[in-house]
Amino acid sequence: MPNRLKIRGSKKHGASTIAVIGLGRFGTSLALELVKGGREVLGIDSDEKLVQANAEALTQVVQADSTDEAALRELGIPEFDSAVVAIGTDLEASILTASLLLQLGVPQVWAKATSASHGRILEQLGVHHVIFPEKDMGQRVAHMVSGESLDYIQLDEDFVMAKTEAPDSFEGKTLSEMKFRSNHGVTVVATRKKGESYMPSFPETVLNAGDVMIVAGRTKKVEEFCRMGW
Ligand code: ATP
Repeated sequence: MPNRLKIRGSKKHGASTIAVIGLGRFGTSLALELVKGGREVLGIDSDEKLVQANAEALTQVVQADSTDEAALRELGIPEFDSAVVAIGTDLEASILTASLLLQLGVPQVWAKATSASHGRILEQLGVHHVIFPEKDMGQRVAHMVSGESLDYIQLDEDFVMAKTEAPDSFEGKTLSEMKFRSNHGVTVVATRKKGESYMPSFPETVLNAGDVMIVAGRTKKVEEFCRMGW
């Protein structure tokens, strides 16, 4: 049976509490980032070594089997605002855990899927957010490796944000002159000159070749835009 907890779910207090189940590479990285952002994070793993390794960094870490309903109740999981199932390899544990979290009424259940069929099952269960970290990261890195963009993030089915460099043809032109939205279907969100910080874009922003640009828009439009610098 898990230890008594320092944090309990806080639906009643308004702050947000998050349980991260599975402290492998993905779960640990996620939990640490949440703590960095000021969240109260309960980490759960069946592996005592991982529990000890994360004891200092997370708000609370507990050794427990997340497929055990009684253990989840004892941990106060029904009171948590969100829970993330960060178990990948053990499909059975992932699916059972996700199903229990939904049954216990956790308002936002996130789960990591390691394959399309795993993702489908999680969606069919009713998991609110199914994520594919390996697939998404593979796609993102492909755009960087191909040299098409410096970074690339898919925000929605057909909407992406990319980091690219202004080609020589943009030298000395302002954003309003370039009419990127009407000519290319992309919005320039921010720009950065060498050695400076990012600045939000204004119509009067002057571009120089090699400036870093953050652009957003529909996938095809952004990809075409990024290829202009080739
Ligand atoms: P990584 O994030 O390292 O890529 P992975 O996708 O290989 O992880 P797993 O190794 O299956 O995922 O699981 C991640 C963590 O979840 C492991 O540390 C494992 O001990 C933990 N875990 C697996 N099953 C359970 C369970 N039933 N209860 C609690 N923790 C579990």
